[in-house]
Amino acid sequence: MNKKFKTGLLLAVLALVFAVTGCGSQEKAAPKVLKVGTDAAFAPFEFQDESTKEYVGFDIDLAKALGKQMGYEVQIQNMNFDGIIPGIESGNIDIAATGMTITAERSQKVNFSKPYYKSGLAVVVKADNATIKGFGDLEGKKIAVQIGTTGASEAKKIKNAQVREFNSSAEAFMELKAGGADAVVNDLPVNEYYIVKTGAKDAKIVGDVVSAEEYGIAIGKKNTELTEKINKALDELKKNGEYEKLYLKWFGKKPPQA
Ligand code: GLN
Repeated sequence: MNKKFKTGLLLAVLALVFAVTGCGSQEKAAPKVLKVGTDAAFAPFEFQDESTKEYVGFDIDLAKALGKQMGYEVQIQNMNFDGIIPGIESGNIDIAATGMTITAERSQKVNFSKPYYKSGLAVVVKADNATIKGFGDLEGKKIAVQIGTTGASEAKKIKNAQVREFNSSAEAFMELKAGGADAVVNDLPVNEYYIVKTGAKDAKIVGDVVSAEEYGIAIGKKNTELTEKINKALDELKKNGEYEKLYLKWFGKKPPQA
């Protein structure tokens, strides 16, 4: 073996070792795909466009914008709301963009980004209901909620209420319409969208917003690097006007000043 050949061989072997073990001067490449879990029955945050069958909504646009900002390809996965946190814990999905309220209980299982939307719970009844004027009138009533939500846990605190849980808020609204429930306790912007956009003339929102809530992007508990990246990307989207553009598109108004 001549010297040149030996050196070449050595370099080739070294290159192979570095490639296999992944050590080298370069940073480990970020995964290209960001798997985003969402419960696509929560308009205007996430729902399926009936004609194109695509998932659309404020959260979907926001997730895509965040992905783009961070250099990831976003893959949307539709799943039931109560399967979302387990999905993050098992690594089936990387993050969730699903109108998820930041709570202390959930924060034990997942990381949350900075809040990206101010929300709250409100009561929906049939348009001709004259007795339920707000949350205070729900004692002993039949209440339809979405399983695993903050609306469900608030409803369960009401004395003698018969709480019926559904997989989606759309199904809870259907139960109200069908007369199987006296009220729905659900997120205000979703209630508003349901009444205005679907032309549900037979339903109305009563009383004040029950609790002030904020939505955050949920991320794996151990994934602090991704949490930081998302927070940074969120700040950037707020600075460059993209966040405001999406907010205007879906809510018809500018975001409230923080
Ligand atoms: N914001 C509510 C919660 O986090 C409802 C979310 C949802 O149904 N997508 O519980």
